[in-house]
Amino acid sequence: MTVEFDIVVVGAGIAGSSAAAELAANAKVLLLDMEAHPGFHATGRSAAFFAPSYGNAVVRGITAASEHFYRKPPEAFSKTELIRSRDTLFIARNDQLALLKEMENEIPLLSSLSGTEACSQVPILDHEYVAAGLSDGLGGDLDVDAILQGYLRLFKKRGGQLMCRKKVEALHYNRGVWSLQTESLVISTPILVNAAGAWADVVAELAGVTKLGLQPMKRTAVLIDPNQSDDPELDMDISNWPLVVDVEEQFYFKPGAGQILVSPADETPCDPCDAQPDEIDIAIAIDRFQKATSLGIKRVSHSWSGLRTFAPDRNFVVGFDPRLKNFFWLAGQGGYGVQAAPGIAQLANSIITGATLTQDFSPVLNYQNDVTPERLIK
Ligand SMILES: Cc1cc2nc3c(=O)[nH]c(=O)nc-3n(C[C@H](O)[C@H](O)[C@H](O)COP(=O)(O)OP(=O)(O)OC[C@H]3O[C@@H](n4cnc5c(N)ncnc54)[C@H](O)[C@@H]3O)c2cc1C
Repeated sequence: MTVEFDIVVVGAGIAGSSAAAELAANAKVLLLDMEAHPGFHATGRSAAFFAPSYGNAVVRGITAASEHFYRKPPEAFSKTELIRSRDTLFIARNDQLALLKEMENEIPLLSSLSGTEACSQVPILDHEYVAAGLSDGLGGDLDVDAILQGYLRLFKKRGGQLMCRKKVEALHYNRGVWSLQTESLVISTPILVNAAGAWADVVAELAGVTKLGLQPMKRTAVLIDPNQSDDPELDMDISNWPLVVDVEEQFYFKPGAGQILVSPADETPCDPCDAQPDEIDIAIAIDRFQKATSLGIKRVSHSWSGLRTFAPDRNFVVGFDPRLKNFFWLAGQGGYGVQAAPGIAQLANSIITGATLTQDFSPVLNYQNDVTPERLIK
């Protein structure tokens, strides 16, 4: 059976779903995913944080341009609050102070804290470990599921069609039309959007072009109970703690649903897959957390891993491939794909359909050349 669409988006993570929702305002769009439900891979495994001071200048710029959407989404997008403010606290040991200074110089919106001031924000931090800190008051926890479902609702409302359990297995281009082959269906479309996350280079190879060198990197997270003692008198209220990040990003931790999420901030290069946590990364997470804090950990409640996929220069990859007609890259979201999704989706829609950006999103146009796939083609 063959079906036809104006645009087909491969991958229903946050990148594909948000872009598909924007594209559906002007076109007949199909959103495809090989898994049983959207968001199964990186999107469903994130630490769900909005950090305007995280990433390089391009990432920070597109993230900043996305903030207003999360703070005040369009009516009917979601009944739930999409972002709940939480500070970020970058901490440094004595031997990391030069790096902290560098960060302070590069990002003027951060306020500097003494070691004592930093520790007063998170009582379990060890005064001997933390020499100084930097605080960012503009971050927050994202409700990733509400954001994803909001985009999918908007997509369907605009007439878009979602198909899950449809893996694109082959791609052919002939006389202005792409044919996508899945097990049970052939789909034809003039415009193909590659939002396949860790598999973006695999999809490119199916289309017959050499890959751009996108590298999936595994990252692990564990949840620990903050109240490791059996005595309820010793229970702590952690709800207002900031996200605490080692200035070299060797680890971070933050409160989440009454637990502490700790990550060793691992970046292990690997092939695209359904990533699972390794015992060694769980052990490193606990070791680094315990060196910086006074909390003894007896048990881990839960652990998981996901793939953060980076271009060699760590900028996003958004734009048409100059080597292939109407093959659009929407990839390389790295560790920032959720926080920057509204801006990236708007930029993709404006390049593909020529849609005008609203005033609030117009700053993303400044980054169009930084994210073009052309820069990665040798
Ligand atoms: C532990 C961890 C913590 C993170 N923390 C944060 C954070 O705090 N803030 C933040 O903004 N970001 C964070 N990230 C990064 C963020 O999760 C990613 O940048 C983002 O989810 C990437 O979205 P995506 O849509 O590109 O990829 P994905 O969500 O992986 O979606 C790609 C989709 O493509 C589908 N697909 C692939 N190949 C095919 C095919 N051939 N046919 C059909 N479908 C296909 C896959 O099934 C998948 O659903 C974190 C990531 C991890 C792992």
